[in-house]
Amino acid sequence: MASLYFKYAAMNSGKSTQLLQAQYNYFERGMNPVAMTAGIDNRTAVGKITSRLGIDCPAYTFDKTTDIFSFVEEMNEGGKPVDILFIDEAQFLSEAQAFQCARVVDELDIPVLCYGLKTDFMGKLFEGSEALLRLSDNIEEIKAICWCGKKATMTARLTPKGDMVKSGQQIAIGGNEMYTALCRKHFMSGEAKAIPVQNTKKSAA
Ligand SMILES: [Zn+2]
Repeated sequence: MASLYFKYAAMNSGKSTQLLQAQYNYFERGMNPVAMTAGIDNRTAVGKITSRLGIDCPAYTFDKTTDIFSFVEEMNEGGKPVDILFIDEAQFLSEAQAFQCARVVDELDIPVLCYGLKTDFMGKLFEGSEALLRLSDNIEEIKAICWCGKKATMTARLTPKGDMVKSGQQIAIGGNEMYTALCRKHFMSGEAKAIPVQNTKKSAA
């Protein structure tokens, strides 16, 4: 029986690295893993999952109009059967798309592994993450570290000068904003002492 997985974390936990490693394990066995990432993520070339360690892999993209179930069903029936579906930036799924992922698991018997941020820079759940927390069979936290050494559970948005931003649009990819992972205490106090990681995975590699 296939399962729906949600592996969540704060920024810079190595989520994409884990995804790419897991996907490689399937390739290595001659299987057909399919990977998708959010089309709104223009930090890198469209249709690519990149890791801060410097590895990358091509990926299909989804936007608000993508029907994940139909996409996988067509691919599964049209050629090589799909062995597993990986979704990076899963926080950007809509609630409906999270349900479509569950249908891929239940109706097509294909495992779906979703990787994403749990909360935004204001500490609020993303729509996709909220739905995945409700729907997933397996939920796992990937650990990120605050500058103080404690586990980082929050993602802070920083200005280019390193000041924390407290309000604004939830999705502001491609601007000059930077993000860093903080423990709750330092998220609340606004002490974002970490060297901010620029909002392009490539430059942070
Ligand atoms: Zn801290």
